[in-house]
Amino acid sequence: MLSRAASLMASPPCSRVIKKPLILKSMRSCFGKKFLCCLGAFVLRPIKLLRGGTQLLGVSRFCSISNVDHSLHIKLVPCLRDNYAYLLHDMDTGTVGIIDPSEAVPVIDVLTQRNQNLTYILNTHHHYDHTGGNMELKERYGAKVIASGKDKDRIPGIDIALDDGDTWMFAGHQVLVMETPGHTKGHVSFYFPGCGALFTGDTLFSLSCGKLFEGSPDQMLTSLQKLMSLPDDTNVYCGHEYTLSNAKFALSIEPKNEHLVKYATEVTQLRSKNHPTIPTTLKREKLCNPFLRTHSEEIRRSLNIPVAASDAEALGIIRRAKDNF
Ligand SMILES: [Zn+2]
Repeated sequence: MLSRAASLMASPPCSRVIKKPLILKSMRSCFGKKFLCCLGAFVLRPIKLLRGGTQLLGVSRFCSISNVDHSLHIKLVPCLRDNYAYLLHDMDTGTVGIIDPSEAVPVIDVLTQRNQNLTYILNTHHHYDHTGGNMELKERYGAKVIASGKDKDRIPGIDIALDDGDTWMFAGHQVLVMETPGHTKGHVSFYFPGCGALFTGDTLFSLSCGKLFEGSPDQMLTSLQKLMSLPDDTNVYCGHEYTLSNAKFALSIEPKNEHLVKYATEVTQLRSKNHPTIPTTLKREKLCNPFLRTHSEEIRRSLNIPVAASDAEALGIIRRAKDNF
């Protein structure tokens, strides 16, 4: 559990700068953000029909247009023993959302401290430690619950069901829904291209992936590859602070990975001060996370994975080794 002081330190503004076309700047000053949000939703509508890689390309193209400002701030809210919920605050409109509230009280505490209301609750999947606060928060603030349409029967209080490739607007910030099954059947990740933030729930952790409760190694591999297709400097906000124990496992099977050794040292230092290791980045995970490194000769040698084994087979073996570590 992180201290409140640590959680307050862990509120990096979503401040990645993307060049805005001059015409958009002047349009914004003339018409304001709300007008551009509506315009963005209209322009974006065709993208909802696209799927897979082409849909991702479509979104990254739209990214530079939709990103009318960078007013989204993200705050970590530690919950339960090692969960993170994430408070989203649009500075322009005051709109507030929460991702994966495992319990209501820590979220209510933060909202009360900041004198804020709650408009949206987003869930990556149905597990109790990601949805446990839904009903109490919904009742108290009248917030709308947004989650996967595939899990509509398992998400408490769901109001808006979204599917793979759908886009949704959070106070003018484009949100792309990406189905990422493997941990559960209906798991989704939420990508905010405008500020390069990715909320991965229990699909991708720093230095690991989620347990395969309802999916196959093949499904998890596909989900991880989908996430890896996003820009390298994407900030990853996952559902748990597991990084230190994940680092121990990763080092046990790839001890000569210099990037991993360096990152594991940073993680140890951060955790010794009770600081969060999140967000991480996709670039770092590609360099260090064993579940994204199924091609690594060192990992394959460590776990006796045959050279001819596919990446999915290798991922399955790495996952089993982690489960028994
Ligand atoms: Zn879970």
